[in-house]
Amino acid sequence: MSQDELLNVPEALEMVLEGIQSLPSEEVQLPNANGRVLAQKIFAQIDLPPFTNSSMDGFAVRAVDTRGASQDHPVKLDVVGDISAGHVVDIPLGKNQAMRIMTGGVLPHGADAVVPVEYTGNSESLVNQKLEPWVLIHQEVSKAEFIRLSGQDVHKGTPILSSGHRVRPQDIGIFAALGTSKLSVFQRPLVAVISTGDELVEIGKSLSYGQIFDANGYALSAAVESAGATPLRLGIVPDDANKLRQVFDQCVKAGVDLILSSAGVSMGAYDFVRMIIEEHGHLEFWKVNIRPGKPILKGSYQDTPIMGIPGNPVSALITFGIFVKPLIHRLGGVKSFERGWLFAEILHPVSSDGRESFLRAYVSQGESGYKVQLVGSQDSGVLSSLVDANALVRIPAGKKATEKGELVEVWILRQDGIL
Ligand code: AMP
Ligand code: MG
Repeated sequence: MSQDELLNVPEALEMVLEGIQSLPSEEVQLPNANGRVLAQKIFAQIDLPPFTNSSMDGFAVRAVDTRGASQDHPVKLDVVGDISAGHVVDIPLGKNQAMRIMTGGVLPHGADAVVPVEYTGNSESLVNQKLEPWVLIHQEVSKAEFIRLSGQDVHKGTPILSSGHRVRPQDIGIFAALGTSKLSVFQRPLVAVISTGDELVEIGKSLSYGQIFDANGYALSAAVESAGATPLRLGIVPDDANKLRQVFDQCVKAGVDLILSSAGVSMGAYDFVRMIIEEHGHLEFWKVNIRPGKPILKGSYQDTPIMGIPGNPVSALITFGIFVKPLIHRLGGVKSFERGWLFAEILHPVSSDGRESFLRAYVSQGESGYKVQLVGSQDSGVLSSLVDANALVRIPAGKKATEKGELVEVWILRQDGIL
């Protein structure tokens, strides 16, 4: 295939990921594992819960002793112990006996159920209540009721999560519950973020006429971080082939895993990125059948993968979500990642030029399902409409007319990243 060919999005994505290996693993302490990607399968080292315990504040009993208990005919049991969470009472429970027990307390030998305090006619908090020598049970319980069996959550030896899974707060919770203090995770990819263009100015400086602030350097660094990688923001490089080469060399020296450069990849007289890659590396493609974002380039500079994405901030962020994020995930060991998407009824007709299009939109949930409408300008130079959008409508390649009321594919713009 010629590098000049206009690739379809799926073909381009396949080429972006081709030959990309996951980075090696490293060990992290559990508190530092949130958002990291597991590089090992995790098995439960202990039973969870580790012992059979009460799921309610109440009285540990033998279920058989509560049989027939009712409001009018309560059953009276002798209270022979008091078990709070974390304190074991080592005497067995006998016939017609009960022990007061708090949630999480170890069920005593002989007991097989718990009567919640609410079944004893006691509607008060137990705090500071003195332990009576007997208790009246107003409602019977059956065997195993209101108890949590040891291993009922997780049995020792059970696989919990696999390699490639990105750790979430609930995962941290179960690892801690299992006593896991260290995890093997994939190293975070280091991604150089470069903004090219003579017109760009660093924020904090003042703008002269004809200049704009560098939006991409910041937006893309944030997107890189949300994708689970570490951005190395190298700032602005002018439209000068030598300066660009120097910065790319700096990236190689720094050992980055990916160079992410914005602008300077289309047909302009000063668009040098492609030329430099052809001279010093390998160009895989530089045009994709997508709107926004047709000039997008994948290759390598020396042996470091590089993606050159369009200069317009909207195009840069959308192509980041579609192509760069999966690449970062591949480097970072993420096995599969799911885009948030749904079908919604479009509230007006849409026309497209036949390229696969990602249109800024607002989706909301109506009484009869999801509805979506485009928001603001679809011009790739207009960033405010991406800010106002909560989703992108995907129009497949080749589809030029979409009628009002058609179901369209909607990709949700995530809180924690772009797509
Ligand atoms: P280019 O891809 O170099 O032709 O740039 C396309 C458009 O994106 C031009 O209007 C540039 O001024 C604009 N642009 C390029 N880089 C940035 C950037 N880092 N931040 C904001 N706009 C940019
Ligand atoms: Mg430019």
